[in-house]
Amino acid sequence: MNRTSSSSASADEEHQRAGAIVSAQQESLIENSNIPQANAETTQGWNDWKWQLRNRIRSVEQLAKYLNLSGEVSNLSAVAERYPLAITPYYANLIRRPDLSDPIFQMAVPQCQELFSPAFLDDDPLEEHQDMPVPGLIHRYCDRALLIATTTCGSYCRHCTRKRIAGMRESTISATRLRQVAEYLSNHPEISDVIVSGGDPLTMATAALEKILETLRSIKSISVIRIGTRVPVVLPMRITDELVNMLKKYHPVWINTHFNHPNEITDESISACTKLADTGIPMGNQSVLLRNVNDKPFIIEQLCRRLISIRVRPYYLYQCDLVRGVEHFRTPLSKGIEIMEYLRGRLSGIAIPNFVVDAPHGAGKIPVTPNYIISMSPTHTVLRNYEGLLVNYPEPGAAYEPCSDKDDRTAGVWELATGKASLLAHDSIARIKRRRKSTVKKITPSISTDKKSVLLTDENGLLHCRTKGAAGC
Ligand code: SF4
Repeated sequence: MNRTSSSSASADEEHQRAGAIVSAQQESLIENSNIPQANAETTQGWNDWKWQLRNRIRSVEQLAKYLNLSGEVSNLSAVAERYPLAITPYYANLIRRPDLSDPIFQMAVPQCQELFSPAFLDDDPLEEHQDMPVPGLIHRYCDRALLIATTTCGSYCRHCTRKRIAGMRESTISATRLRQVAEYLSNHPEISDVIVSGGDPLTMATAALEKILETLRSIKSISVIRIGTRVPVVLPMRITDELVNMLKKYHPVWINTHFNHPNEITDESISACTKLADTGIPMGNQSVLLRNVNDKPFIIEQLCRRLISIRVRPYYLYQCDLVRGVEHFRTPLSKGIEIMEYLRGRLSGIAIPNFVVDAPHGAGKIPVTPNYIISMSPTHTVLRNYEGLLVNYPEPGAAYEPCSDKDDRTAGVWELATGKASLLAHDSIARIKRRRKSTVKKITPSISTDKKSVLLTDENGLLHCRTKGAAGC
């Protein structure tokens, strides 16, 4: 009992601390006066997505200057040569502290660990290239396909799963490629859902993106178009009236965003998501579980709460892929399970994402959850809830009579699985009942003693420590 209350007290304290950290960060915005501002240009420049793209931080030297980076940064040039660097001024301005304690810094600024390359990592661990029937189109699941429309992004996430292509050569799909893709999709009417991805398709010119959507809509068998984008996070000013008016011509269009941390939810990103939601675009969010960025239950809880408040449903929480260059972000699988254990019961179902492992060798997404099934028999399934309460769930069918075998010695999971009990609470466990009944009188004799306590054995040979003069201990 003491353990339970003390651990929930510390969870609450941690929770409050997390809230305090986040709000302190929001209040103590660093005056990032070196970050490219609209400067000579007007503030309209800052709110113009094209200005943001033109003024991205693209080199380690710029980065060092803008963020006042101290210490050795020359090593980072080798990293940026291997994996491109780009940060929009807007996203750079969300960095509160220019060091690894800041989640945005970690996700945006190159780190030497990206060059760590153990043998079990791969540039393409999901084997996307092997599931490409035509260049740029991944056909893995029967009814879905993913189109790589561009290799350009607003900012290049250090944890990107497509590090092998994102930003390597900024380009968009050619007309010839798009024709090949359309031909394949037309010849495969089993594909009804196409995800336009990249790179980030919302960095494309509106007309170029419209050409893709128009082409997809012209294929009768395609009913749903989804767009995967991190633009609401790193370049929210891109969600313009012009863009949403174009998108709504091609409904049903869904958008999956990529928020990883509550600090990414700002007035600007809220306004971008509001505009998309008001256009009738359902939105889901795909987060990646990242070491030292969001691998705390209360950070994910806070992120999920904020997402549903801006009409973005938490959809997936991904285990970090086995991608070369992101190993330092990877957490043990158990961390994700622990987080899911924490969320269930605290958040409503619409706020809880699915924790998935996108398995190597193209095995696809595998949901991984805490185990809620404790035992089963033909008549009953024993389930546990988030509080640890065990209940039986009777299976349908009159043929299943509760077990009539007698066993009065104990009450446990077997009683639930055979319908002899419907709930197993701590207090109904025979051994616990016996302990409760046990009194000082039954505990004899003393086998050890000092000034403050006495050690006793009961009739079952169990040891009890008693403080002298107290009722029990
Ligand atoms: S926006 Fe997406 S594709 Fe681009 S770098 Fe980030 S995770 Fe990769």
